[in-house]
Amino acid sequence: MKSDRVMRALACTTMFLSALRADAYCRTTTCRVPAAFAPTPTSCYPDGFEEICANRDPPQKVRALWWRNRCVGYSLNAAASRKIAFDDASLTMAQAFSKWTSTSCPSTSTGLCDGGTCSPSGASSRVSIDLRDLGPTQCDVVKYFTGAEERNQNAVIFRDDSWPHEEASRTLALTTVNFNKDTGEIYDADMEINTANHRMSIGDDVPSDGYDFLSIMTHETGHFLGLAHSGDPLATMFARYEPGNTKMRNLTTDDIAGICAVYAPDGTRAVHESIDGGIIAGESCDPEPRHGFGETCTQAAKGCQSSGPGGTSGSFAFIVTSCLWLVRAVRRKPA
Ligand SMILES: [Zn+2]
Repeated sequence: MKSDRVMRALACTTMFLSALRADAYCRTTTCRVPAAFAPTPTSCYPDGFEEICANRDPPQKVRALWWRNRCVGYSLNAAASRKIAFDDASLTMAQAFSKWTSTSCPSTSTGLCDGGTCSPSGASSRVSIDLRDLGPTQCDVVKYFTGAEERNQNAVIFRDDSWPHEEASRTLALTTVNFNKDTGEIYDADMEINTANHRMSIGDDVPSDGYDFLSIMTHETGHFLGLAHSGDPLATMFARYEPGNTKMRNLTTDDIAGICAVYAPDGTRAVHESIDGGIIAGESCDPEPRHGFGETCTQAAKGCQSSGPGGTSGSFAFIVTSCLWLVRAVRRKPA
């Protein structure tokens, strides 16, 4: 059997070819899928996706997203929400992030075995990505500054008063990711929570018509790390949330396969095959955002409604957004 490094690179390639595969997880790419497309258990992208992207103006490459550093910092907006106290939000976010970063990978994706020769016992099987709370930020705009003189934050922001995006009644949260359009490397990610239109629930007692904040944050964390919606309806990364449900709190086999495919325990990242054959080494832990952490931000927000240029002029940073939609309640007649 070939090494796991090769297997993971091939898995990345077959996703783009829409080939049959065992996992349903999908990775967000530098090219946004058409709005009407929904992933299936066997296909993350529409037929001819690379050609669709190449024909856009300007042409877009299809590169799966990934964080280079082993550690990524985040910051909760200091105002939190009038409906969720800062400490409750902070604790729940840490729980949600930990769901992903504490994941142990199955032996087939650990990168610990190569050609039948395995590393000595005791080697970690945990994913090689950590999320670190850098403390609150005053910044409440979604943005990424590309200039070396500007500081950044990977911010989590509540929208109590109004939802500044489309589909307010059915969108629970939105994650905006800035990335290098040629490599897929993520530069910045911000989460927005739609508390203006939906009542979030803290703790285990979730009302039947409530929205479990931990479930929602666990789902958004998948986007933060570069995963897209899965075609598996049981997965945390499935696109739709049912009110009153806590299922998305717990990663499924499919979610675990996804995170392990990107951030293998050996510290590598699965990238596009055109970049060093599809596997590159990650960097040692440094959770500082690019250009340093700023407690405040001083410039207006950049656009975040769709995929496209997301930085200042001359930037290589592009953005893509991913949201969690509400499943509309459907009344069924008794049989
Ligand atoms: Zn989503």
